[in-house]
Amino acid sequence: MDKSSLWQAILGELEVTLAPGNFHTFFKPSEISEITDTKIVIAVKNVFIRNHIEKKWHSLLVDIFRQRGYTEQTVMYTMLSSDKLKSKPGDESVVLQNQTQTKPAVFRPSPNPITQSTPPSSDITHSYRQGLSPRYTFENFIVGSGNELAYAACQGVAVNPGTKYNPLFLYGGVGIGKTHLIQAVGNGVIANNPNAKIVYVSTEQFIQEFLDAVRYKKNTDFAAVYRGADVLIIDDIQFIANKEKTQDEFFHTFNALHQANRQIIMTSDRPPKEIPTLTDRLRTRFEWGMSIDMHAPDFETRCAIVQSKAANRDFILKPDVVDFLANLIQTNIRELEGILNKLIATCEVRNLDPTIDVAQALFGNVRRPRHLSAKQVVEKTAKHFRVSVDELLGPKRDKDIVMPRQVAMYILRSELKLSFPKIARELGRNDHTTAIHSINKIATEEALNSELRSAIQEIRERLYA
Ligand code: ADP
Ligand code: MG
Repeated sequence: MDKSSLWQAILGELEVTLAPGNFHTFFKPSEISEITDTKIVIAVKNVFIRNHIEKKWHSLLVDIFRQRGYTEQTVMYTMLSSDKLKSKPGDESVVLQNQTQTKPAVFRPSPNPITQSTPPSSDITHSYRQGLSPRYTFENFIVGSGNELAYAACQGVAVNPGTKYNPLFLYGGVGIGKTHLIQAVGNGVIANNPNAKIVYVSTEQFIQEFLDAVRYKKNTDFAAVYRGADVLIIDDIQFIANKEKTQDEFFHTFNALHQANRQIIMTSDRPPKEIPTLTDRLRTRFEWGMSIDMHAPDFETRCAIVQSKAANRDFILKPDVVDFLANLIQTNIRELEGILNKLIATCEVRNLDPTIDVAQALFGNVRRPRHLSAKQVVEKTAKHFRVSVDELLGPKRDKDIVMPRQVAMYILRSELKLSFPKIARELGRNDHTTAIHSINKIATEEALNSELRSAIQEIRERLYA
């Protein structure tokens, strides 16, 4: 068997064993780079992924290789080479399968009086760069459950703006990386084409500029700037609710850009249909391209984010401290950065090592109960779905009992890492293949069904509350 088929077979095995977030973040983008008589080398995307695999799944991998007859080899890790990385941005297969062109698209020079005189140099700053911050890139964005689809779509747009997913609409809660990703698109487009005209604007700023333009009779200048963009990125579009005049103006901007195949990217804290007072004509346009529901990253991804942000500041945190911080803040990554910054600042000022004791002293005791029990998982799941624990453990096969039962198994696997036979027993079944089947089913559905995803998120939050 060649390296690639072997890895595909192993991925198949890992996919049914691991929680989907872990599988997609840590294993899917990896590959076997070398097999000899003495070693098997696995190439991974970055150092955080390597650390995690080494820490949590090394022995599992070794076992899997042993079972396949690779008994003599040492399993080791390396980084994917950078050209491989470029052709492997996240899990492309999810949304980019129809992407045939990998070269950056060449921009049509758009006849625009405002920038025509601008020399084609990458270090110029003109009004089309104002809102972009170099701090937000694809490279420093950690991909995991909750954001991988959005990440892949954003990368697709950065490579070929205006040609697919137009508009791109990302929505989801506060602090989960929406602004980061859409800014990364802007920066990515500029990296491919330094002359691209990018407008990044918050919706509040857009509204304010529009009102000023009306007041000072500069409407045409205002329209020219926005309609001259190659890529218009507008953040937090939900604030356009109740702003009738601005909605009219944005409608025309949108049409002008869309007709000219210019890329429009928006974010919102909710889907278009839930933005109150949004005119129908805007709502339908927002839904024309691709809407992606982002949600809070899972525990593993939060750990990787903490490690990455600490490493950027030249701080190495021990695994127990990383786990502690990632448990403390479950949804808002901005808050997670906040507590990390506080820990780092305290350690710098007081000249301390960032140990678990220091972290606990600063932020109180762990919110996550040390011994989350299987019983608690079953109880909280039953409660959430308004069924009784007896029903979950019993023989009934009605749909409204089976689904909660499967969710309970899924959470037992993702949170307590129990074995399949043990999970089956906890739910009163004696066949462990039932557990495997149930967990796979929920994993697949979780990716597709946002209602189920929020149910699982809510149960997890109750468990750790
Ligand atoms: P939103 O716009 O969804 O409210 P932001 O994009 O402003 O959230 O993200 C909040 C902070 O968290 C930013 O500093 C961002 O860099 C960081 N962040 C969020 N998700 C990630 C991620 N997956 N990897 C790295 N940093 C992240
Ligand atoms: Mg934001």
